[in-house]
Amino acid sequence: MPDSYIRAVELTGGVPLLIPVSGSISTLGSLYDRVDGVLMAGGPDVDPIEYGQERHPMLRKVTPSRDRMELALLERAFRDGKPLFCICRGLQVLNVALGGTLWQDLSAQVPGARKHDCHPDNPPDQLTHEVVIEPESRLSTVVGEDEIAVNSLHHQAIDRVGDSLRVTARATDGIIEAVEGTGNRFLLGVQWHPEWLAHDHESARKLFVAFADACRGGR
Ligand code: MN
Repeated sequence: MPDSYIRAVELTGGVPLLIPVSGSISTLGSLYDRVDGVLMAGGPDVDPIEYGQERHPMLRKVTPSRDRMELALLERAFRDGKPLFCICRGLQVLNVALGGTLWQDLSAQVPGARKHDCHPDNPPDQLTHEVVIEPESRLSTVVGEDEIAVNSLHHQAIDRVGDSLRVTARATDGIIEAVEGTGNRFLLGVQWHPEWLAHDHESARKLFVAFADACRGGR
């Protein structure tokens, strides 16, 4: 788990507790019961078998054991209404857990998509493209702006949107950059990496603060 996530959670007064991929069902259950919210972090590609597709040649590294652990955790947190904040791969796992599919490689599968995998050509905290935020969404309320600049470290993205999710931000090329749950529960997913931006950019810090507030019961 990169330090950037740890520092961003600590910035809000939250206490990060890391959940081991190789934990037993009983370990996962015990840890899950102790946490106030679940942050799904970035990482490798989701194995397309989880959304019923063959592997595209441009698919990168997959970690089936992490997929299974995170899908189980997500399904449980979704069912319980526990606050969920999903970043990059986390948003993609969320979408798959709710029956959606992914573009396995934007440059190969989506003509006209801009460059979204800007690392390592750019530093991970460099703002590389705009996202346009849907008004009257939780994201819009949290961030307080209708357009923000974000970093972009992904070669995959949401294709078919999962059940119970609403798209709340897109890049100007149409690629989905944020989703959220419907209703009052805190369920927010972003395709960019606010953990790299939380110290220097208010819009990124506000996402972590909102998640921390939800974890404290504020919703
Ligand atoms: Mn992007």
